[in-house]
Amino acid sequence: MSKNSLQITNLHAGVVDSDIQILKGLTLEIPKGEVHAIMGPNGSGKSTLSKVMAGHEEYEVTEGTVTMDGEDLLALEIDERSRAGFFLAFQYPHEIPGVSNANFLRAARQARLPKGEEIDAVAFYKEMYEKMDLLGIDRKFTGRSVNDGFSGGEKKRNEILQMLMLEPKYAVLDETDSGLDIDALKIVAEGVNAMRSPDRGFLVITHYQRLLDYIVPDVVHVMADGQIVKTGGKDLALELEEKGYDWVTKELAPA
Ligand code: ADP
Ligand code: MG
Repeated sequence: MSKNSLQITNLHAGVVDSDIQILKGLTLEIPKGEVHAIMGPNGSGKSTLSKVMAGHEEYEVTEGTVTMDGEDLLALEIDERSRAGFFLAFQYPHEIPGVSNANFLRAARQARLPKGEEIDAVAFYKEMYEKMDLLGIDRKFTGRSVNDGFSGGEKKRNEILQMLMLEPKYAVLDETDSGLDIDALKIVAEGVNAMRSPDRGFLVITHYQRLLDYIVPDVVHVMADGQIVKTGGKDLALELEEKGYDWVTKELAPA
């Protein structure tokens, strides 16, 4: 169990109260300071992996472990996972009608302070506006309900704003590139790159190579049918783009 990584070991998970198995012995380690990418065909279980780590109640872990700097992530409640430094940017972000973006972020930040300590509202707003500017998010989104009625691209940017404000130890971005045009993609990548640090690890999930031109990963994994089937350097993403996913899945199929 590493004290300095997000470590997923032999993870098996499926849909609660069903015999649907999705993750079938997945093993992966993201050391602090590194950016890992997972690529894979639709339906391979990428979103399930991210939701299992975040504690989504739709899924049940039947075997294996996930540890974050040595701490058992799966033993924690959803909110505890977040406070412990885990962050997931959803492929399909949730809408929270009636809760403004600013209040949501403020409550999340407040929850991370030691008991009895109050958030500095002036400093909080200043920081939030700076980060919104960095991501090209208009100020009017401050008072709007979280993701409610946002376009696909606005939701994705808003997820990255949450990440910038929460400063997690490990962040998983599930297809953050989908629904973004090239300019928005570059802005989002800039936001992520600004957060890269020796104290933080990233798992970037994407179906397309394009995002990885802007967020250059240290390691690329290919996922198929609930497992990591190939791992390589950043060039693996280019090879996949060129040859398609069949190339890896065929190579692995027993003759
Ligand atoms: P990916 O993100 O790689 O496209 P997903 O993790 O979303 O894949 O889904 C993996 C597989 O599991 C898909 O075949 C999907 O239909 C199935 N699946 C995911 N969640 C459920 C669910 N709640 N009920 C039934 N099947 C599910
Ligand atoms: Mg998905």
